[in-house]
Amino acid sequence: MTKKSHMNWSWIFMILFLTLSIYDFKFGILGFICMGTPIVHALKGDGKIHCQKYCPRGSLLGKFLEEISMKNNHPKFITTNQFKNFMLILMMSVFSFSMYHTGGQLNKIAFAMFRFMTVSMILGIIMGIIYKPRTWCIICPMGHASGLIKQNQDNRAKKAIQLETPKRAA
Ligand code: SF4
Repeated sequence: MTKKSHMNWSWIFMILFLTLSIYDFKFGILGFICMGTPIVHALKGDGKIHCQKYCPRGSLLGKFLEEISMKNNHPKFITTNQFKNFMLILMMSVFSFSMYHTGGQLNKIAFAMFRFMTVSMILGIIMGIIYKPRTWCIICPMGHASGLIKQNQDNRAKKAIQLETPKRAA
């Protein structure tokens, strides 16, 4: 059964997240859900379903930037695996560094998460205005990580079939 897309309205969660976090930084902790869900879906074997059907950030970029986006072609290099890997490593390093500096305090963790989510959101909006609305999704670390998990699962499945085939033939 194909799962229904919620991309038409899931942007509400991103607005809710930003509003609550501005009201009280502690709500920033909810950002872990946003970061973790694509990975959980991928680990469950659903590939990039989060990007296609649920993601509040992708939904917001697609919905609100459509009218104001200049829709220029994005630079080619951002689609290369090298660049996506670079972005994944860079953003995870920045994230880990800021988490390390929270000293494990919940308030600081929540604020660091809120800051990380907001800065990447602003970057996504700028990219969406200059290029196409969801250009951020090309380099999004969570989207890329989900893709890598899927690739890894596919490769392992292929290897398992290859190992199975000679046994069956024998
Ligand atoms: S690539 Fe990132 S921002 Fe885009 S839909 Fe996927 S998880 Fe969301």
